[in-house]
Amino acid sequence: MNSAPLSSGLGRVIVVGAGVLGTMHAVAARRRGLEVVHLEREPGPRGASVRNFGLVWVSGRAGGPELDLALRARQLWADLGAEVPGVGFRPHGSLTLAAGDAEMSLIREAAARPDAAERGFEPLDAAAAREVNPALRGEFTGALLCTRDALVEPRAVPAALRAHLLASGGYRWLPGREAVEAQPYAVRDHTGEWHRGDLVVICSGAAYTGIAGPHLAACPAPPLRRVRLQMMQTRPFPGRVATAVADGDSMRYYPAFGLPGRAQLGPQAPAAARTRAQLLLVQRLDGSLTIGDTHEYDEPFGFDVDEDAYGHLRDRAQQLLGTPLPPVQRRWAGVYSQVTGDELYYRSPIEPGVVLVTGPGGRGMTCSPAIAEETFA
Ligand SMILES: Cc1cc2nc3c(=O)[nH]c(=O)nc-3n(C[C@H](O)[C@H](O)[C@H](O)COP(=O)(O)OP(=O)(O)OC[C@H]3O[C@@H](n4cnc5c(N)ncnc54)[C@H](O)[C@@H]3O)c2cc1C
Repeated sequence: MNSAPLSSGLGRVIVVGAGVLGTMHAVAARRRGLEVVHLEREPGPRGASVRNFGLVWVSGRAGGPELDLALRARQLWADLGAEVPGVGFRPHGSLTLAAGDAEMSLIREAAARPDAAERGFEPLDAAAAREVNPALRGEFTGALLCTRDALVEPRAVPAALRAHLLASGGYRWLPGREAVEAQPYAVRDHTGEWHRGDLVVICSGAAYTGIAGPHLAACPAPPLRRVRLQMMQTRPFPGRVATAVADGDSMRYYPAFGLPGRAQLGPQAPAAARTRAQLLLVQRLDGSLTIGDTHEYDEPFGFDVDEDAYGHLRDRAQQLLGTPLPPVQRRWAGVYSQVTGDELYYRSPIEPGVVLVTGPGGRGMTCSPAIAEETFA
């Protein structure tokens, strides 16, 4: 064990954090022929990356750089899906469902965006939406099809990518190691071992103390904030849900729908307004449905989950599917890290040769492969 950082090595990257962002950096580094040492403080990732929907979500992104990043990432996910089937990539698209004329007219506006074709947007009446996704036997006015949206299996992605990296060599996986100190081109883990390389990439997610703490504390204004979301997963649904599904409330949050028609939307249901909820629904490979979400911005966050929000999301899902949901099997909350400014994510050197990459917010699963690519560009 070394007691101090050694001089910089050659062709070697140290990655801290084994969520999707850290893992994608390991993948990107190996693609460039760099040796990778990968540290994770837990036995395996337990943060936002395994708690999310697995939506590779192009539809909601703002036009311009955010859409470009998401489309590049969508391509990289498709490539990875072909190479590593265990990530569960499916190019299934999504339907955003309108309840009433105001939501439908916002959908038509979105479908007339100059970048609508890049997103694969198409407005559909209810009958046409049911042809795309016959599981939608409930009540809705029409839908926005987005053919560029896709799915992966969040609980499987990090382990599938690690298995691929381990099989191809040049990759050292060190679970149960917390990075506690950064110095130029090196980090020390809690056992005292120093790990050195040409670059250290710290992807510590929503952990704002610890290794990222001194840097973040020295920023004149907080560059990052945390957001907490509630989720649930049912037992297997008897039938195929052919696309991801969103309700009209999602158009209140995603920047792609920041169009004049948004001001015409009526008030949200009280439980949805209070918990800033939108319905997103994804069928997992085992047939179960992942359903969410809510948004909590003010810390300290609740340590428990809010049942009214779950009741609202369950009712919305049942209205759209036109059938009772299977029993809920799991409930959880997750926290992601989000930039407070206009950037798409946060990348900042914290020491020479040590860079902190976090803060992609609700687009982190989607954009992670493209963010990692940009780090090495
Ligand atoms: C409920 C929910 C739903 C979401 N849905 C989607 C979605 O469908 N699509 C989408 O694009 N995005 C979604 N997101 C956002 C996305 O999940 C996150 O942006 C993304 O997972 C962030 O990845 P990360 O690797 O930065 O963070 P994390 O997944 O939190 O990983 C950080 C890792 O670093 C480790 N770590 C921290 N400090 C240290 C240290 N000092 N030493 C060693 N290890 C350390 C942690 O243990 C953790 O494993 C969602 C988020 C949530 C919470």
